[in-house]
Amino acid sequence: MAISFEPAQSTIDAREFYHKMAVEQMRPISRKYDLEEHAFPQEWVDSYWKHGRSGPGGDWSGANDGFVRVCVQAEELCWGDAALYLRMPTAALGGSAVAAAGTQEQKQKFLAPFQGDGPPVWGAMAITEPQAGSDAAAIQATAELDGDEWVLNGNKIFCTSGESASQHEGGFVVVWATIDRKAGRAGIKSFVVPAGTPGMKLIGLEKKLGIRASDTATLLFEDCRIPRSNLLGSAEVKKHDPKRSGDKGFKGAMATFDASRPIVAAMAVGVGRASLDFVKEELARHGYEVRYMAPRTELRSIERDVLEMEAELHAARLLTWRAASMMTHGKPNSLEASMAKAKAGLAVTRITQKAVEILGPPAYSKKMMVEKWMRDAKINDIFEGTQQINQLIVARRILNYSSSMLR
Ligand SMILES: Cc1cc2nc3c(=O)[nH]c(=O)nc-3n(C[C@H](O)[C@H](O)[C@H](O)COP(=O)(O)OP(=O)(O)OC[C@H]3O[C@@H](n4cnc5c(N)ncnc54)[C@H](O)[C@@H]3O)c2cc1C
Repeated sequence: MAISFEPAQSTIDAREFYHKMAVEQMRPISRKYDLEEHAFPQEWVDSYWKHGRSGPGGDWSGANDGFVRVCVQAEELCWGDAALYLRMPTAALGGSAVAAAGTQEQKQKFLAPFQGDGPPVWGAMAITEPQAGSDAAAIQATAELDGDEWVLNGNKIFCTSGESASQHEGGFVVVWATIDRKAGRAGIKSFVVPAGTPGMKLIGLEKKLGIRASDTATLLFEDCRIPRSNLLGSAEVKKHDPKRSGDKGFKGAMATFDASRPIVAAMAVGVGRASLDFVKEELARHGYEVRYMAPRTELRSIERDVLEMEAELHAARLLTWRAASMMTHGKPNSLEASMAKAKAGLAVTRITQKAVEILGPPAYSKKMMVEKWMRDAKINDIFEGTQQINQLIVARRILNYSSSMLR
């Protein structure tokens, strides 16, 4: 069956809304928060909380072109500033996890503060550990059932929005932990730890190459007690058999990536487009017009570069919308989500580097934003599955190999 991945007219209108936000509210403070790493972008947080979140964004239900619209929003706002996009008060990856693996009750309970009139709130997801990143099955953090509570112990690193989500009341961190190390993947479940829960400690913040306005935290869990019902998908809990708790378990937790990878791909497209737009503006300022219809034999090298950048960007965007559109229509999209993420991660690193190359030394200095976009680009090739891991997933799916057959 053919799937149309043209966005709906309302989504095209939404793009204008978010583009305006990017131009008026993100770009003016973009350099400031890149330089002042770890400073809290109060004006942006307030503005998003008051105006941005009630904008025409898509929703997780998939209604009204929902998921494609989430991607269009991500592209526009990351065109503005990818780090500030990540710093927005939203449920973010934690929200995707709750949406993908949570019960109806859990969705209502944990996602309600993000729609309420209270102060800004954040969600985060903590999978990565010093010894477990790409290989999530190697997770060492543990969760033990003690009466009606889970007791979490372990160390989580590189948690995006980990500071905001763990410190601001109403927010939460979704923590992946094992309830049975011997069971491997089957033992891994995800747990919602509300902000301020005793035993969840903020240990530090990373100093990073790019997306410096985004908080990236190290969290320590020491005898951190949460209600039994905070195991995602816990409606199916069998009273005396915790191993059957949250039957969606590892698979449910992994399903989060089907939603999050297209979003990261869209973020990459946004940063890539920011660079490409700027290159074209600069060329035009110097009287250089890119001749899209010129015969191949007459193309100048710089025009060929721009056309290649443009083609990479369009290919990445189309793959992204396809993966998002499949999600909206309830179709399995793991293959397409990984394809989009791998393509867009590579495209944005190439495009931003090419932009710096074309524009010369000023583009390598802080005089221009392209040096920042080049630094911001690389993360899209790392988090939510690295380039290599996403390529591996694509290969497995196409060849019909299991993870043990192709590692
Ligand atoms: C800024 C930032 C924000 C992040 N935010 C979050 C977050 O919010 N939550 C979270 O849980 N994590 C987060 N991460 C962690 C990120 O998801 C991991 O760094 C990533 O999954 C890679 O895992 P790793 O660091 O353990 O590297 P490794 O898995 O050790 O990988 C190192 C290198 O080896 C390659 N590699 C690994 N296995 C294979 C294989 N089988 N075949 C081929 N190549 C392979 C990888 O591609 C990579 O190039 C973040 C990271 C950064 C830098």
